[in-house]
Amino acid sequence: MKKDILLVEPAYKNPYPPLGLMKISTWHKRKGDNVDFIKDTPHDPKLDLFEKNNVCYKKLRDHYDIVYVTSLFTYQAHYVATSVNYYKNRFPDSQIRVGGIMATLMPEYIEKKTGINPHIGLLQGVEDCPPDYSLFPNLEYSVTFATRGCRRDCPFCAVKKHEPEFFVKENWPGDIDITKKGIIFWDNNWLMSPNFEKDVERLLEFKKIGIKNIDFNQGLDCRVFDEYKAKLLRKVNPKPLRFAFDNCSEDGHIQKAIKLAQKKGFNDIRVYVLYNFEDPSDTPEYFYYRINEINKLEALSYPMRYRPLNDLTGQYISDNWDKELLRALKLSLMFYYQKGMVTKNRESFKKIYGNNPDEFKEKLYLIYKHDKQLKKKKT
Ligand code: SF4
Repeated sequence: MKKDILLVEPAYKNPYPPLGLMKISTWHKRKGDNVDFIKDTPHDPKLDLFEKNNVCYKKLRDHYDIVYVTSLFTYQAHYVATSVNYYKNRFPDSQIRVGGIMATLMPEYIEKKTGINPHIGLLQGVEDCPPDYSLFPNLEYSVTFATRGCRRDCPFCAVKKHEPEFFVKENWPGDIDITKKGIIFWDNNWLMSPNFEKDVERLLEFKKIGIKNIDFNQGLDCRVFDEYKAKLLRKVNPKPLRFAFDNCSEDGHIQKAIKLAQKKGFNDIRVYVLYNFEDPSDTPEYFYYRINEINKLEALSYPMRYRPLNDLTGQYISDNWDKELLRALKLSLMFYYQKGMVTKNRESFKKIYGNNPDEFKEKLYLIYKHDKQLKKKKT
């Protein structure tokens, strides 16, 4: 018998589409079920959320057999609990299923707040379905993974928890909608895939039919980026080319990787830079060292604030950082540079962040002080 399925993405901000729900949609549609999708809006206690959404989503039904609620970051957990509880009350006869990254990392939170035992990890069967792009008709790119998991085990990273096994996804080309202009790969560490060459060949076939924009948006591992891989990647020409300089294990490798990539003709190179991790080596001084190294090589840094895997607030401050420095760094990225990235321009870099780690900290404290004064004036 046909089932009625509701897919819910809670009200948190997410610049990307909810891939898990899109795959679940295909899985159910292949069985002949009816599928509706809803993006929740922030819950206002004075409004009936579901009825408010119903105005926009007239197709929603009075009853659903299964309601799937997804989740993403742990600091957005409250949005997930609110949605789950809402749909649980709104559809008391429905089966409510909760999954996704946050639910996998903190199942006990979901259970405590909603009484529902979430699904942990990937959904077998569903994982092999292509995303249902009809849920997001304006999406300009396909989304896929050529691998899952990661062969490394960096202490700050959640991948080992939600994708403990590293494996190759042979069937990723099935995820591609050839009417779209681009493909975004969400691989954690594609350069370590035994299928690297085969994937490059497949990508070149997609390029031949007009899919020009390729992006590996989780970053490529600079420690295994060599002349051979650079040459093959150049043919694929991912834009931008992304690496990470998260800790000292990448020092030396990242500089070589940037230079090699530039020699091969890549000119949009962006580097994720983790900060505020609890490791004693993650200091503001070492952060300055890393962004300075990247800036000297005329690449862009993309600072990423660390949050513990069970952090519900997003406000974690490690022992080596303080509230003022973290706030000022955020402000500097918001106001001086676009899209949260540190500029390529050497002179501007020095003007904002100084010539050495001490100046860097002094300048950030000044930014913080100015911001505080401005706020005072406004009140
Ligand atoms: S290499 Fe990247 S994906 Fe792999 S464990 Fe380290 S941070 Fe995570």
